[in-house]
Parts: sequence; C-alpha cells; structure tokens
Amino acid sequence: SQTITEFDTIAAISTPPGEGAISIVRLSGEAALSTAQRVFKGRDLAQVASHTINYGHIIDPDTDEEVDEVMVSVMRAPKTFTREDVIEINCHGGIVATNRILQLLLSHGARLAEPGEFTKRAFLNGRIDLSQAEAVMDLIRAKTDRSMKVALNQLDGNLSTLIRQLRQDILDVLAQVEVNIDYPEYDDVETMTTKLLLEKAQDVKVRIGELLETAQQGKVLREGLATAIVGRPNVGKSSLLNHLLHEDKAIVTDVAGTTRDVIEEYVNVKGVPLKLVDTAGIHETDDKVEKIGVERSKQALATADLTLLVINGSESLTSEDRELIEETTGQKRIVILNKTDLPQQVDLANLQMLVGDDSVIGTSVLTNDGLSQLEDQIATLFFGGIENSQTTVMVTNARHIGLLKQASAALDDVMSGIAAGMPVDLVQIDMTRAWDLLGEITGDSVQDELLTQLFSQFCLGK
Ligand code: GDP
Ligand code: ZN
Repeated sequence: SQTITEFDTIAAISTPPGEGAISIVRLSGEAALSTAQRVFKGRDLAQVASHTINYGHIIDPDTDEEVDEVMVSVMRAPKTFTREDVIEINCHGGIVATNRILQLLLSHGARLAEPGEFTKRAFLNGRIDLSQAEAVMDLIRAKTDRSMKVALNQLDGNLSTLIRQLRQDILDVLAQVEVNIDYPEYDDVETMTTKLLLEKAQDVKVRIGELLETAQQGKVLREGLATAIVGRPNVGKSSLLNHLLHEDKAIVTDVAGTTRDVIEEYVNVKGVPLKLVDTAGIHETDDKVEKIGVERSKQALATADLTLLVINGSESLTSEDRELIEETTGQKRIVILNKTDLPQQVDLANLQMLVGDDSVIGTSVLTNDGLSQLEDQIATLFFGGIENSQTTVMVTNARHIGLLKQASAALDDVMSGIAAGMPVDLVQIDMTRAWDLLGEITGDSVQDELLTQLFSQFCLGK
C-alpha cells in the first residue's frame, strides 16, 4: 500500500567480483532506459517491448569505440525487482570491460548505487517487506542448498505471514480490551479483560518460543557450524580434513570480508555447512616435525560448535588422548576412532564408556570405511528434528531473533503485570510494545536509521 517514491537512477555491477563468464551491470530508475540508450548501439530501447533481451554493443559515445558485445534486458516499471524501470546489461568481456561499461553509465546519467540500494528501493516501493529484503541478503550469502531453501522460504514471505498473524491476534485482543473498557457497566469487565490479555499473552509467547527454537539451527545454516578437528599428532586429522575438503563439495574457500591470508574453509556435509576452525593450523604443520598438538587443539575448541575428536585406534590410548576426551566432554562432539584398517589396540566399547552418550564412529580415512556414517551422524546431530520439515519457517537472522526475544519479554511483562494486579491500561502498554517489536521484523514499524544501517550491509549491486 506504499506509494512509489521518485528516486534518481542508480547503477552497479550486480555479479560477484572476480572473473566470470558473464557479468551483469544493473540500472534502476526513471532514466534507466535513456541512460543505457546513450551508450548502446542496437535496437532503440525506448521502442522494444518490456521484459525483452536485446542484442547489441556498448560503445563510448564520445569516441565511438566499441567496448563490449552485450545482451540488454529491458524491464519497465512496475513489474520489476525495484518497481522502477530496470536495465540489465549482460556483458562478457571480463572485469575491465564491465568496469568500463559501469563508468560510461555513470558519466551518462546514472549514479553509483550504494550497497543494498536496489533492494532498499524494492522495500521502499512496497515490492518486498523488510524480512524479505533481509532474505535477499541471506540468499546472496547462502552457503548450502539448505540455507538457500530457508532464505527462499523467507523470501516467499512465510516468516512475514507468521509475524503478521501474531500481530493481528494481539491487535484483536487490544481492540476487545478497548470495547470492554467502553462498557464499564458490566460488573466483571476488569476480570474478563484481564483474562483475555493473559490468555493472548501466553498464546503468543508460546508461538514466539517455537520460532526462537528454530534459531539455533537457523544460525548454523546461515553462518556455518564452526567445527574443530582435534586429536594428538598423527591420528589422521589432516587426512580427514582433506577427505572433507576434496571428496565433498567445498562450498566457499574465499569468504567475502576475509583477507587473502585468512581463508575460511566451508564444506557441505549432507546439507550442514561446516566452517572448519583452525585448518590453517592443521595444514601448516603437515609434513613438519611440529604437528598440531594438544595445546593448539584446546584453542580451536574454544570457538567450536562441533568437535570432531580423532583417536588412533591402532595405538593404545595415551594420556594426551584422555586429556582431550576430558577437555571436550560437554561439547557437541563426535569421537572418531580412526585407522580401523590396522590391527586395533583401542576397544570401542571401552572408549564408548569414556565418552558417555556421544557417538563413537570407527573410520579409516585410508579405505573410506565409516566416513559416510560419520557424515550421516553430523547431519543427524543437527537436523534430527527438522529433517523432514523443510517448509517450516526458520528464524535465521540475528535482528529477528533479538526482536522476538524482546517481544517475548514484553509479554512476560504483561503476565507479571496482571499477576501483580496492575490496571488494565498499563498492561495494555506492554502488549502494544510486543505488537510494535514484532512489527519491526517485517518493517511495518521501523525507523529510518535502522533502514540505512540494514541496507548498508548488502553487497554492492544488490
Ligand atoms: P594428523 O597429524 O592428525 O593430521 O595425521 P595425518 O592425517 O597427517 O596422518 C598421519 C599418518 O597416518 C599419515 O601417514 C596418514 O596417511 C596416516 N593415516 C591417516 N588416516 C589413516 C587411516 O585411517 N588408516 C591408516 N592406515 N593410516 C592413516
Ligand atoms: Zn597431518
């Protein structure tokens, strides 16, 4: 129901930085078509039908020099991502040509887009709500198919639908309270009203709680599960790491925001994005006398969500092994009894007693024995409850989690207020606060400053 706001025309390279087969330069705004036309030799873009792709060349109008051979998509408002006129130039001349095209557009009527500005316009023009805008950001960063699905789900507006339902329920009860207050002639109006508020506060709190329960898995999907591979020297850590890195699909090796020498390694294990902790430490020490030892393992443990403790089954347990077993107790842990292809010195049942309820899995990285069982176990550990419920809404966004917690606390205030016999109009204030906080998730009640901060987190060109 928002009106379209008039903005200037913005341009940016929308494909990720780096060398690719094609790159896309995107333009959005009133002058998108005319700006593109100034540097385009081909059909008259003003005359072509909307949502068509047009072959031609980008030329520098000042020198008539040909810059690249391109396909230009013309999408007229309002059926576009931003609800403005949008032009996408598919070029294939590599980074230099792509940058030239952007520069040409910038000197012929467009302004360089700020990070996230395309998505911000989509939001401001009422095309998407705030949680959908954030989903776009998550989608850009999604590290596995599964996190992609969650982001897509959110993009579809499932979270928004749920939140709006909660708000509507709160609004209904607030309206009912107003009506009751208007008819004070009924004797038990105060009691009735209080009961209504209490029941609704409890009900909404339960539903918020269910959403918050999905947040832990949500965080994993979003950020990857920080995983430490620990064990004394020579047990097979690097071999396991290499198996995970090379035999499985490595997802990202170069994460935006990290420098070249601090490369985080992600692997996708049955849909669980593992962010391997301190792999540099493992790599570094490979083929060197000084292998990764207990001290180093302890450091890696401090930041881990999941610990893979590797033990060499072909040698008796050492004090170092026992120390690491002790050290990792209470963490989310899988104990790997490696080198099962060799004569065994460690008794699996004994080891199982030492590690309590945690799984012990026998593996041989040499013969690939038990490795798929290990991967299954990692997936089960994290998707046990939600494996078959991919349509469930999951909260994955830190801002949403924060707001849900605050809303839940406001509902606690409603309940404790009622318990303390506070007047209804004061209780109403807390209820309204919960309604407001939920609204911030979808952007139905949101301040300018927050918007600016949010959209600035986007990549350029999105
Ligand atoms: P790390 O020091 O814990 O990283 O151990 P490495 O992965 O470097 O492995 C030490 C040695 O054990 C290497 O020679 C590996 O080839 C070997 N190794 C690793 N896993 C197995 C296994 O499952 N069976 C056998 N027989 N050897 C293994
Ligand atoms: Zn090694």
